[in-house]
Amino acid sequence: MDKSCEPSGSSKREPTKSKVANATPCLALVSSLRGVGPSRAQLYQKLGISYISDLLKHYPKDYRDFTAVTPIAESFLEEYAVIKGVVTTKRGGQLIRKGLTIYKVTVADDSGVLIITIFNAVYLYAALEVGKSYYFYGVVHGDLVRREMTSPVCLEGDAKTLLQPIYSLTEGLSSKMVQNNVRDALLIYKDGLEEVLPESLRQELDLCSISFATSNIHFPQDDESLQKARRRLTFEEIFIFQLGLQRLSTGEKHKTPVKLLDKDISPYINALPFTLTNGQREAIEAAISDMTGADINAEGASDSIEPMNRLLQGDVGSGKTAVAAALCYLCSKNGYQSAIMAPTQILADQHYATLTRLFSSLGIEVCLLTGGQTAKQRSELLCGISNGRYKVVVGTHALVSSSVEFFSLGLVITDEQHRFGVTTRTALAKKGINPHLLVMSATPIPRTLALLIYKNLKISIINELPSGRQPIDTLVISSKKRGRALGFIRDKLDEGRQAYIVCPVIEETESDLVSIKEYLEALKGTPLSSYHTGLLHGRMSAKEKEGLMSSFVSGEIQLLLSTTVVEVGVDVPNATVMLIENAERFGLSQLHQLRGRVGRGQHKSFCILVSDHQGEESRRRMEIMKNESNGFKIAEEDLKLRGPGDFFGHRQHGLPSLKLASLYNDIGLLEQASLKAADLLAADPNLSSPENAPIKNAVTELFASNGEVPFN
Ligand code: ADP
Ligand code: MG
Repeated sequence: MDKSCEPSGSSKREPTKSKVANATPCLALVSSLRGVGPSRAQLYQKLGISYISDLLKHYPKDYRDFTAVTPIAESFLEEYAVIKGVVTTKRGGQLIRKGLTIYKVTVADDSGVLIITIFNAVYLYAALEVGKSYYFYGVVHGDLVRREMTSPVCLEGDAKTLLQPIYSLTEGLSSKMVQNNVRDALLIYKDGLEEVLPESLRQELDLCSISFATSNIHFPQDDESLQKARRRLTFEEIFIFQLGLQRLSTGEKHKTPVKLLDKDISPYINALPFTLTNGQREAIEAAISDMTGADINAEGASDSIEPMNRLLQGDVGSGKTAVAAALCYLCSKNGYQSAIMAPTQILADQHYATLTRLFSSLGIEVCLLTGGQTAKQRSELLCGISNGRYKVVVGTHALVSSSVEFFSLGLVITDEQHRFGVTTRTALAKKGINPHLLVMSATPIPRTLALLIYKNLKISIINELPSGRQPIDTLVISSKKRGRALGFIRDKLDEGRQAYIVCPVIEETESDLVSIKEYLEALKGTPLSSYHTGLLHGRMSAKEKEGLMSSFVSGEIQLLLSTTVVEVGVDVPNATVMLIENAERFGLSQLHQLRGRVGRGQHKSFCILVSDHQGEESRRRMEIMKNESNGFKIAEEDLKLRGPGDFFGHRQHGLPSLKLASLYNDIGLLEQASLKAADLLAADPNLSSPENAPIKNAVTELFASNGEVPFN
C-alpha cells in the first residue's frame, strides 16, 4: 500500500481486518468505514453510493501517472510535470494577510532545485520531512535558473502505486477522500467480493480474479495490471449486458400471417409533394421485401413468413417519416392497420398532422391516440381502432394501454425507438399477431455496433438528406457576444423567419445554468422584447404544449424559448435560427438533434452555441459541432470523447448504462462477450443452474435499473 502525504494519512490508522470476518461488501454501508460520517455518507449518496460494493464499483475516471518523472532542470516552464526529489529545507509559515499563510519547501534532485510554495495547507507542509524523497505533480513556473511549483499533489518517494486514481466527485468530496475510503474498503472486503464469472470462462479467456481486478482498477501496481483489471471488469460488464439484451430480444421466432400481396405503392409516390431520395427508396424497398417474404421465397409459395424486424436509421431531417408512411400505405392497401408510436406528444401530433395531410387524398383514415384526450373522444377512437375504420393509428405510450384493441394490426413502427424500452415495444406488438416491426432512430450508431446491440435486427440507413437543403452555419460564441446574437435573431424575425432559444433548465437554480424563465425576464429591454414569444418546457401539460407548438407552427409565435423538449422531431421549416445556451452541457448527439430543428426549409439556417466553458474538452466538442454536419460522424466523435459511460445510457437508448465499457473503444471485447453470452444462453437459457446464479442476479440487477425483466 502506498503512503500519501495528506492529513488523513492512512498509514497511521490501519483498519483491522480481523474485526470483520467474511465481510460482504454488498451488505455493508459506506458509513461503516472509518472517516465516513453522516455528512460524507450523504455526499456518497449523491453519487449513488450507499454500500461498500457501490464504492468499489465507483471506478476511477482517470489516473495521475507518477511514473514519468522529469529532472527538475529539464522541466518545461508553464507545463505540468512530475518531479522526484529530496526535501532539503522547510521554511515555516509566513502570514501574508489574514487567512493566508505561505509555506516554502526546497526540493533537490541530481539536476537542480525546485522551490515549492504551499498556501494555507499546513497539514501538507507538516507531512513533508527534510531528508526524505517525494514525488510532486504540478505546473512548473519560474525562469531558466529558478524552478517553482505551487500547491503540488505529492506522494511519498517509496510509494508503490504510481498511478493514482482520479474519481468523479461531488462538491465536498475530494479524490483523496475517496482514495482513502476505497483503500480501507479493499483491505477489509477484497476477499469477500463475489466472483460472478465462472472459473472455466475466466481461464479460457485469461481473465484475472475479481479481487485482483478490483484492487488494480483503483490502485494499479503498474500499467500492465491496470490493463488486466480493466479488461476483466469491462468484459464482465459487457457480458452481463449482452446476456440481458439477448434474453430480452430472442423470444422464439414466430411466423406472421401478415403477408402483403399487393406491392404497388405508386399511388402513394405520386401523392408525395417531393421525389424520394435514393436512401428513402432503398429503405422502402428493403422493408417491402421483408413484408412480402420476397427474400425468402421468390414464388411466394409459403403462406406465412417471418415478421419484419428492421431498424431504420437516418440523420435528423433525412425523411424517415416518408418511409414509414409508405409502409403504412401498403399495409392499409392490403387490409392491415399500422401503429406509429412516438415518445412525446409533440412528435405524435406532428406525425398525425403529416400523415393526415398525406393520406387524405388516398382515402386512408388516420387517428391520434394520446393520454390527454377526453373520455368521449377516447371511446370513439378506441371503437374506430377496434372496428378497423382507422387504418393508421398514431400515438404516444397510450397505445400500449390494455383498452386499445386493433382490428388487424399488421405493422408496428416506433419512432426514436431508443426512448422506449424493449418491453414497451413488445407490448405494442402483442396487440397484433406477430406484426411487422420497424424502429426508427435518428441517433446514428455505427453499423457494427448497432448489429451487436440490436441482435436480430436488419438495418437500413438513409445516408443523405433531401436535395436542396442548405447547410446550417454553426457559430460558437461566449456569453459576452450574446447581445449581438440576439440582434442577429431580431433581423431574422424581421425577415419573417422564426427562431428557437434553448436553455438547459426551466427555473433558476443554484448553479450558473441559464434558465428559460430568467431568459424571458432578461429579454425585456433587448431587441427581442417586442416579438411574440412562447415558453415551452416539460412541466407544462400535454395540452398546453400542444397549443403552444401549434401556435409556433402557424407562425403566430415567432420566438420559442424552450428546454430540450423541443429536441425530438419537431418540424417547422420557417424556423431558421437556433441559439443554445450552456451548450457545453449537452452531449454532441443531443446538440446535433437540437440543431436539426432548423435547416428544414429553403432558407439559410444558423445555429449559435453559447458557452463560456474554457476546458479543453468543451472546446473540442464545440469545434466538432462547428465543423461537422454528419450525424454519424458526430456520434462517433461523441463516443470517442465520452469514453466509458453513458452513450448507451438508459435515458438515450432504453438500455442500462455501463460504467466502464466504451462501446466504441471496446468493440473487440464486445464481440467476444456477445459470443460467450450466446453460448451460455444456448446451454442454460434461463441461467437456472446453481453455478450461473450469480450471473443471473447480476443481469437482473443491471436491467432492473431500467425497468426491464430479462428473466421471469
Ligand atoms: P426525420 O428523418 O428527421 O424524421 P422528417 O421525416 O421529419 O425527417 O422529414 C424532414 C422534412 O423533410 C419534412 O419536412 C419532410 O416533408 C421533408 N422531406 C422528406 N423527404 C423529402 C424528400 N425526398 N425531398 C424533400 N423533402 C423531403
Ligand atoms: Mg422524425
